[in-house]
Formats: sequence, C-alpha cells, structure tokens
Amino acid sequence: MIILKNYNMKKHSNMKIGGEARSFIEIENKMEALDVIKKSDNFFIIGNGTNTLFNDKFLNIDFISLKKLKKITKIDDFRVNVEAGLDFGSLIKYLEENDLSGIEELSGIPGTVGGIVYMNGGAYGKEIFDSIESVECLDDEKQIRVISKKDLIVEYRNTEIKEKNWIILSVNFIFEKGFKKEIVKEKRDKRNKNHPIEKPNLGSTFKNPKGFFAAKLIIESGVQGKQIGQAQVSMKHPNFIVNNGGASFEDVTKLIDYVVEKVYEKTGIRLEKEIIILK
Ligand SMILES: Cc1cc2nc3c(=O)[nH]c(=O)nc-3n(C[C@H](O)[C@H](O)[C@H](O)COP(=O)(O)OP(=O)(O)OC[C@H]3O[C@@H](n4cnc5c(N)ncnc54)[C@H](O)[C@@H]3O)c2cc1C
Repeated sequence: MIILKNYNMKKHSNMKIGGEARSFIEIENKMEALDVIKKSDNFFIIGNGTNTLFNDKFLNIDFISLKKLKKITKIDDFRVNVEAGLDFGSLIKYLEENDLSGIEELSGIPGTVGGIVYMNGGAYGKEIFDSIESVECLDDEKQIRVISKKDLIVEYRNTEIKEKNWIILSVNFIFEKGFKKEIVKEKRDKRNKNHPIEKPNLGSTFKNPKGFFAAKLIIESGVQGKQIGQAQVSMKHPNFIVNNGGASFEDVTKLIDYVVEKVYEKTGIRLEKEIIILK
C-alpha cells in the first residue's frame, strides 16, 4: 500500500481542479481496502476522476485508489470477473480479444469499471447493469458481500451501491459471443465529434429528467455558452461544463447553480446533478 500525505488532487479530476488532500492511498488488495476504511473517519474512493469535481481548498479526506485492482478472470465462455480499478477501455479491449459482446455502446466512457458500475453508467440506450450478474462490495458494515443484480436497486444513473456508499471490489459480467467492432467505432466517432474532449470536463453535468433531455432544456433556457470565471457551458455539448483554463471550484459550482435556476425559471424543471461534487 502506498500512502501519500498532503497530496494535490488536481490531476485526479478530469476537470483539473482540486486542492490538497489529507491523504491519497493506493491499495494493492481487497484486505488493504478493508483495513484502510476501518481506520479512516472520512474516505472517498477515487477512480479515474472523470465524474468528480473537487474543491480547490484543503480536502480533509483520505482518497482511496483501487487502480491496482485490475485483474480480469475468466469464469466460463460467457462470464468474467473484473476488478473495480480496471480502466473501462481495457475491458472493451478484452471483449474484442475474446470475441465477447454486450456493452460496446458504452465504449469511450473514460472511467474505471468501479466508477461506471457505481452510478449505472450508460450511453446510447445501454447501461452497464445490462451485462452484470453480481457485484462484490464492501458494505456499510464493512463486510465483503457478493450481491446479485436482482437483489440490488438499479435505476437510471443510480444504484443502491451509490445510495448506501458501498465500495465495489469486483464485478461479475455476463456477455454474449460476437464482439461488435463497428458499434465501437461508430460510438467512439460520435463521442469525438460531439464531446468537448479538447478541454477539461466531467461529461454530462446533469441527468436527463424523465421524458426530457438536459441538453435541450439548457439550449431552450438560453444558457449555452454562459461563462462564469473560466468555467463555461460548452458550445459543443450544452450538458458539459468545460474548464477554459484555470477555472476555480467556485466558478464551476456557481455556473451549475446558475444553469439550474435559469432552466427552472424557463421550463419549471429542476435539473439534478449527475456529477459528484466534493466540497
Ligand atoms: C468526456 C466524458 C464522457 C463521458 N461519457 C459518459 C457516458 O456516456 N455515460 C456515462 O454514464 N458517463 C459518462 N461520463 C462520466 C464518467 O466517465 C462516468 O461516470 C464514469 O463511470 C466515472 O468513472 P470514474 O472511474 O472516472 O469515477 P470517478 O469520477 O473517479 O468517481 C465517480 C464516483 O464513483 C465512485 N466510485 C469510483 N469507483 C468506485 C468503487 N470501486 N466503489 C465505489 N464507488 C466508486 C466515486 O467515489 C465517485 O463517487 C463521461 C465523462 C467524460 C469526461
């Protein structure tokens, strides 16, 4: 296990904003995770930081990285166990190498497996839980449990795991045969074209309210392009907020509040945040 004290978190958020943390701990096995959370009074699991905004002041938090937990274990011809710290792109690569299919639509999501499963990430009509059988978690009683999908509450961009703050250690996936390379290419091209990946961002800022698209509501409310400090509602994709260079935590949170208020004034719909904000 590696423990770094007073560690700058800026590079661990894709928004490139962040202050110094009490500690940053890289664990190497499940038992170390258990050990660390038993001792910490305030911890946060950090994956690739592609959905998390940090305050730029001191963060009195122990950040725990599971990025060294990245094994993929074949169970049978269709099933694999994947550790939570694995980069999602590596899982797609494994599917291609082993001619497996199921989550190609999600290809290009820049998170870890744990980060995607935590919030039931999805794209283009698919969700990660569509291909999951069970999840191995460290629960709020600090017990390691394998929970079947059917025993878990799983919703649009939300799970019981998130609600209860459990830690995902590994995931059992079930796939089909026949990797669909053309879907991967099509979705990756679409992302490269529509997402402002040239600037720091955290993906979709808001969830789509039932029956609506957040991006469309933002355009209709006239706030696309709005800028506060160096944070801006992207001109390329209105549900993304980009850091134009040197944005502060306050710039981003003020802009989020501004968008929520303007959309509410205009449409009567209150947008709910998809990104995680650590104050
Ligand atoms: C350009 C871009 C495009 C994106 N496109 C999509 C998209 O199409 N669909 C989509 O759903 N998302 C998308 N996202 C958002 C983001 O990539 C996903 O939410 C991703 O799943 C987050 O993974 P992460 O490892 O980066 O999580 P982080 O940001 O590191 O963490 C996010 C949350 O997950 C928790 N977490 C992480 N790992 C674990 C674990 N092992 N156990 C428990 N909790 C954990 C963290 O504590 C935190 O609360 C996009 C982001 C970007 C920047």
